[in-house]
Amino acid sequence: MDDLKALIRDVPGFPEPGIIFKDVTPLLEDGEAFGRVIDTIVQSFTDAGVTHVAGIESRGFIFAAPVAKALGAGLVLIRKAGKLPRPTVAEPYALEYGTGTLEVHEDAVGAGDRVVVIDDVLATGGTLGAAIRLIQHLGAEVVGVQVLIELAFLDGRRHVDMPIETLVAYGAP
Ligand code: AMP
Repeated sequence: MDDLKALIRDVPGFPEPGIIFKDVTPLLEDGEAFGRVIDTIVQSFTDAGVTHVAGIESRGFIFAAPVAKALGAGLVLIRKAGKLPRPTVAEPYALEYGTGTLEVHEDAVGAGDRVVVIDDVLATGGTLGAAIRLIQHLGAEVVGVQVLIELAFLDGRRHVDMPIETLVAYGAP
């Protein structure tokens, strides 16, 4: 999967100075590569009894939706504060640039549900940690965590108390 790095562009200084943004749009625009990413994620969870795939706003949605379809699972949207129309549960989080709150509809999943959480990038781990807590707060089980890109030099895994599947890693912690 390291060949995917050629389709992930570094954008220094976006969205603010000091950040090197990992732009996945060239990968999304490459049908073979995008399909291979989705197929690989699906294979990891085929036998995991997944009932729902939860994508984190916004780029997590892009990967979560086709994975959910392929697994025959439902799609759950984990969104930034104020975007979901019905009652939610909320979790604060810190990220590489700034802070925020993630929310999910309070009836999105519940006891007995088995959920895979997907995002595009693992940086400091705050976002994924909050997303996992949201799903667990609703009584569902997080049976897998998947990101496309791990910024390993930030050691985000220390904020996530579960194994994380990654397809492309940069640097060592
Ligand atoms: P973190 O909570 O620090 O692990 O940040 C992960 C979230 O922020 C993901 O939803 C990413 O989309 C976004 N993010 C953080 N750092 C970057 C980066 N260098 N390039 C692209 N997206 C990033």
